[in-house]
Amino acid sequence: MSGTPFGSCPIPHQDHATVQMAHGGGGRMMRRLIEELFMPAFGSKERGPAHDSAILEAPSGRLAFTTDTFVVSPLEFPGGDIGHLAVYGTVNDLAMAGAVPLALSTGFILEEGFSMDMLRRVVDSMRRAADEVGVRIVTGDTKVVDRGKGDGLFINTAGIGVVPPGVDVSPARVRPGDAVLVSGDLGRHGVAVMSVREGLTFEGALESDCASLAGLVAALVEAGAELHCLRDLTRGGLAASLCEIAEDANVGIRLNETSIPISPPVASACELLGLDPLYVANEGRLVAFVPAESADVVLGIMTDHPAAPEPAVIGAVVAEHPGLVELQMPLGGSRIVDLLSGEQMPRIC
Ligand code: MG
Repeated sequence: MSGTPFGSCPIPHQDHATVQMAHGGGGRMMRRLIEELFMPAFGSKERGPAHDSAILEAPSGRLAFTTDTFVVSPLEFPGGDIGHLAVYGTVNDLAMAGAVPLALSTGFILEEGFSMDMLRRVVDSMRRAADEVGVRIVTGDTKVVDRGKGDGLFINTAGIGVVPPGVDVSPARVRPGDAVLVSGDLGRHGVAVMSVREGLTFEGALESDCASLAGLVAALVEAGAELHCLRDLTRGGLAASLCEIAEDANVGIRLNETSIPISPPVASACELLGLDPLYVANEGRLVAFVPAESADVVLGIMTDHPAAPEPAVIGAVVAEHPGLVELQMPLGGSRIVDLLSGEQMPRIC
């Protein structure tokens, strides 16, 4: 399909087929995919017949618009799968601009031979995630590539959100004196994916933190909390996000190592895998920069919200060492947290 908006269609039926190329009967297959899988999952009866574009009511005010592509391997991991990631990832990027998610698009790149059962599971996972967030997947596209020329399934999602009046969340607003908060313990997603890939099992449940942050941000915005900057701590983890913000805002950031929440299973898994948890990807955690005097209020709202399981103030923005992130160690002394030159973990999202 190409830019097909989702309408209403029959219910899908089960089979054990695989995805085939568009030649030799593949045209029929593509039509079946659209009519029997994508449209029933994402479509709504009110939206009328299929057409080349989805039509949305235009809200007044400012729009946020973002896109992300998901290549995670394996496709399913403890606590989530590529479908949940594809919805939450884009929803969370909208939320980081203070926006309320309005609509998503999705593009599927499928390798010939990919299991239809697995595809159904992923599509159902996306539908459930979108329903939970309250966002609609309104248009999509599917391409099939030759066997051996893809790796099963890649998904792109783009999203549009509405930024409420008066909300201005951006690195440009970060100031010396701001408090730096995280919404929960760090490193779960990367460790969950890496442990499956490495065939490791750890004591205690080690699941991805994969979750929507839209509800948490909406709660902060509705409470009138003054938010200078938000960032979801995805690829490169807390370290990469803070290094980027320090550089973009031309401020220093000073972190207190003992305040950074890292669960004991993640800490020991990181030791075993040779990873620094500060650089490990999260898919349901954010960092917030707020004026110091608002820190307690923001921490209180986070504490009351299920999407912020272990919120903490982890440091402050300083006028010294602009562009650099400094980590203060528990026994005194400090070290600079650098951007890594390469990727610590490829194919993590
Ligand atoms: Mg992001």
